[in-house]
Amino acid sequence: MSPAHNIYIHVPFCISKCNYCAFFSRAIAPDWESYKNQILSEVDFWHNKLGRVNVPTIFFGGGTPSLMPTNIFADIINHIAKKFDLSNCSEITLESNPGTLDTQKLDDFIKSGMSRLSVGVQSFDDNELKFLGRRHDAKCAKKLLDIAMQKNIRVSADFIYGLPNHNVQNVINLCNQINKIGLQHASLYELTIEKNTPFGRMNLNMPNNDTMADMYLAIQDNIKLPRYEVSNYAARDNHCKHNENIWDGAPYIGLGHGARGRVFMDGVWFEQSGGDIKFNAIDDTTRAIEKLMTGLRTMRGATIDNDIKNVLDFDFINSHNALVKIDGDKIYATDAGILILDDLLVDILR
Ligand code: SF4
Repeated sequence: MSPAHNIYIHVPFCISKCNYCAFFSRAIAPDWESYKNQILSEVDFWHNKLGRVNVPTIFFGGGTPSLMPTNIFADIINHIAKKFDLSNCSEITLESNPGTLDTQKLDDFIKSGMSRLSVGVQSFDDNELKFLGRRHDAKCAKKLLDIAMQKNIRVSADFIYGLPNHNVQNVINLCNQINKIGLQHASLYELTIEKNTPFGRMNLNMPNNDTMADMYLAIQDNIKLPRYEVSNYAARDNHCKHNENIWDGAPYIGLGHGARGRVFMDGVWFEQSGGDIKFNAIDDTTRAIEKLMTGLRTMRGATIDNDIKNVLDFDFINSHNALVKIDGDKIYATDAGILILDDLLVDILR
């Protein structure tokens, strides 16, 4: 019997494309029945491979999963419950965008098992929202947060900082608003300009690296929520369990076009993609480096299992305790190390 696998389901549809977006999503109204049938057939495929494994968490990401009709969502959850063991499933997250959910639809998702809502707010400034190509305004975002926070679910919101001409004060203002609303989980991402997006074709006057670093530090000084991952802040017991499991290196299945997974079968790791169901074995060293990459982004660090032990340069680590530390069976980056994480990861490898 295979170990527990988390499930990620990609919903690659949006009403329109945002100006910065390089995610796998298309601005189309899909045929939801055929989307559902595709997901169900992938569930069946992995059930046949793995058996009736335990599923600790399910995450519907996008795209805009909240566009999905609630009966489609319910059919997918019910089918997963038939093929896998959901008795220990502690979290079903739905990503959403303001303007796509009213109280009735939210209640219907909750009735079907959704226990955590992640809202793509991005900014509380209407001009910034327009610039980003978002379809909602701040009032609409606040309304959805307000409705959702009255329900018996956990609520998170995503934000983007580091827009052209942003400075530290913009970030402080954002943190103050997050504090005022009383969010228990917030993800704050630096705007990155990707090729093949409208922003990638514009010559934007972005903040320089020092300003970006100052803005990042200002988040921690001003947001009331503790940081538990490079871009994620949450009250205790409000961490995203799905993401934490993935960052810790737990296996997960990716369903739907654009989804990626890491499946563990018969003692071997596989990289796996949804949609056309491809999977290829990866060696333990590759997987160990992946686990280090995600684990070091978390405040609790990566667990030094045998595979990770084999790839670490302990001489470097022991002589750079200002950047990276070992505590028991954990390795973690210090506050200074977090700021140079990409370089650090290269340095700590043998
Ligand atoms: S809503 Fe999200 S996935 Fe959709 S276009 Fe905007 S950023 Fe991309």
